[in-house]
Parts: sequence; structure tokens; C-alpha cells
Amino acid sequence: MSDHSAVGVIRAKRDGAALTDDAIRWFIAAYTAGEVADEQASALLMAIVFRGLDPRELATWTDAMIRSGERLDLSPVPFPTVDKHSTGGVGDKISLPLCPLVAACGAAVPQLSGRGLGHTGGTLDKLESIAGFRVGLSGPEFIAQLSDIGAVICSAGADLAPADRKLYSLRDVTGTVESIPLIASSIMSKKIAEGTDALVLDVKVGDGAFMREIGMARELARTMVGLGTAHGVRTTALITDMETPLGRTAGNALEVRESLEVLAGGGPPDVVGLTVALAAEMLDLAGIDADPAAALADGRAMDRWRRMVRAQGGDPDAPLPVAPLVEEVRADRAGVVTAIAAMPVGMAAWRLGAGRARKEDPVSPGAGVVLRVASGDTVTAGQVLAELHADDGAHMEAGRAAFGGAVTLGDTAPAASGRVLERIVPA
Ligand code: URA
Repeated sequence: MSDHSAVGVIRAKRDGAALTDDAIRWFIAAYTAGEVADEQASALLMAIVFRGLDPRELATWTDAMIRSGERLDLSPVPFPTVDKHSTGGVGDKISLPLCPLVAACGAAVPQLSGRGLGHTGGTLDKLESIAGFRVGLSGPEFIAQLSDIGAVICSAGADLAPADRKLYSLRDVTGTVESIPLIASSIMSKKIAEGTDALVLDVKVGDGAFMREIGMARELARTMVGLGTAHGVRTTALITDMETPLGRTAGNALEVRESLEVLAGGGPPDVVGLTVALAAEMLDLAGIDADPAAALADGRAMDRWRRMVRAQGGDPDAPLPVAPLVEEVRADRAGVVTAIAAMPVGMAAWRLGAGRARKEDPVSPGAGVVLRVASGDTVTAGQVLAELHADDGAHMEAGRAAFGGAVTLGDTAPAASGRVLERIVPA
């Protein structure tokens, strides 16, 4: 018989008390086991949104979430393991070229990824636009592929931080996603349970990101770096700009196509730059001295991609799906592209059919946005700024409305700036 009650824990946090370690561990275990009701967990989450968790409470909360399931053992893998996690942005396809690139340089990348919800796309949805690609691997298949090829991108098993699985679904429908301790513990419980030796976090800031403001992004990055380090995972973070979509595409197969351009040694400079910056950070944490830009340029990363796709049942040479309807968005005046706002581009891709509103919704592989201009480009009146791709007229109409004035035209070119804003290392 436990001394704790859900109501007692909720009241304590509501009134601003710090929760004891014992109370936190009891609550997470009881909720995972179905002994605490969803409405009670929702109430505690809302109290945490308002009252926060102090560093000790957060460490215990995260640890309890890790212990709600198994922590994977990657010790059979004969390479240093290092992963990357992005807090999510528009057109963020970086995992696709990054995973095989880092593997080609000698590390193993155990990417357990998720699906898209809302305006940010999910890596698994993107990969599933490749004919035959399987995202559900068994534990032994995962270890075997990681040991052989060094690159795996698949879905997390049901026993990886199951407390987060339940809590995250609840947060999504109760307005309790936006809390630094809840986001940090959610992300880090999964990444620590994954068993990786090292982790690089890509914390996005700007119009198309969870964190709209650099101070919040910095606090989230520091909190996550602290949690990883405390659990023996070498962790650093890059804070990167998400005012503007990454690259030229947002949508599943469209982003795979752009990733293939990067793996072939081309692609948009911002996608290449961020891929190489994250790869360099990952290799540094893994203790490997290699030049990722060279591995992209000479085809080693592409070879590794093809091996990864084949190992997971995909056909790297199969044509990618395309949407039957394509509509062009044209400039209403001549000028210079002064801004491309990430949020309307992400919303448009979602409404065109690339994303889902509910977890069980299907996604369209071919739908999305292709930007035909970049910030700083000079355009003439009537020039094509973007293409909208959709499967049917209803999606096209919704996507067109969401895209709205995503591209701003002015008279003076904006100052060019890089994607990486700051680097956060353990204190
Ligand atoms: N991604 C997660 O996995 N968890 C959050 O809370 C937010 C983003």
C-alpha cells in the first residue's frame, strides 16, 4: 500500500511545493501502470506548466520516465554510437543525409524517430515515401544493422520510455506541451533510453519552431544538455535558426528528393551547411577525426544511404511518389525576397496533405511545398516563387490559403546569416 495519492501530489504541485523523489517515482510508475487516471495526470501536468520543476525534481522525473521501460544495450555495436535529435522545424530533413554521413565517417547512428504531428514533418513519414522502406525493426534487426552499416532510422519500440508515450499524447490534447521541464524530460528520456553514448541536440528557434525566442531555446538546450550529461551521455547542443524553412522543400517525398541531392554532393547550401555542422559535432563527441564535407562530396555518404535503404527493405532506385496536382505561386511585383516565413510554409505543407492532424491520420507522400526562390533573390513580377503539390482540389485549396503571404518581397536584400546561432556544452 503506497503512502501517496494522486490528489495529494497534484495539490502539492498546485500550491508550489517541491515534490519528493518518492512521490515523483510513484506517480510516474502508477500512471504508466494505469493506476492513476488521465484526468489526474493532466492536472499534474498543468500544475507543472505553471509551477515548473526544480533541477532535482526534473532529474528524478526524467529518470522515472526512463525506468518506465527498458534502456537499450548497444554494447554489442563495434563503433562509438552517437545520435542527433532536433526539436522540430519546417523542412527539417537533416536526419536523412546526416545519419548515413556520420556512419560513413566511422560512427554508428541509432536513430529512433517519430512521425509528424501538426506543421513539422516526421522523419518516419518521409522515409516511408521510399517504396518498400520498413520503419518497424525488431531489436535484433536494429543491433545487426547498426553493427553492419552503422546507420539505422526506425521507430521506437513500445517499451522505450512508455511513460512518455502516454504523457505526450495527453499533453498534446490538454495544452501542456509548452513547458521547458516537460519538453526536456520527454525528449531526453527517450534519447537516454535509446542507449546512445553521445547525443547532439539541434534546438530550433524562430517562427517555425516550438521556441520562438532565443532565451527560451538556450534554457531548453542547457536543461537537456544537463540531463544527458547527468545520465552519462556526452551531450551538446546547437541552437539553430528556424525563421525560414530549411532548404527548398517541405513534404515527405519532396524532402527525400532534396536529401538525395545533398547526398549526391549538391543541394541547398543551408541544408548542406547544417548537415556538415551537426556531423562535425557528432564526430567530435564520438572521438572520430574525419572530414564530413569530404564524405558528402566523394559519394561515401550516398553509398551508406543506399545500403541503409536496402537493409530496411527499400528500393533506393525506385521513383519517388509525386502528387498529381501542381500549382504555382507567382510574385505580384518585382523586388527582392526579404523573408520566407517558416510557419505558413509548414502549415501549407500540412494542409496540402503532407502532415496529419491526429496520430491515426494517413499522410500523402507526394504533397508539399517547393520553394523556387531563396531569401535575397531578385525576382521579376509574375516570376514563380513556389509550387504547391497536392493529391486533390480540396487539399490544394487549403494549402493555398495557408501559404498566403509566406514570401515577402521588398527593395533591399536582407543580411545573409548562417543557421547555427550558438553552441551549448555541459556546464
Ligand atoms: N518532442 C518530444 O518528444 N517531446 C516534447 O515534449 C516536445 C517535442
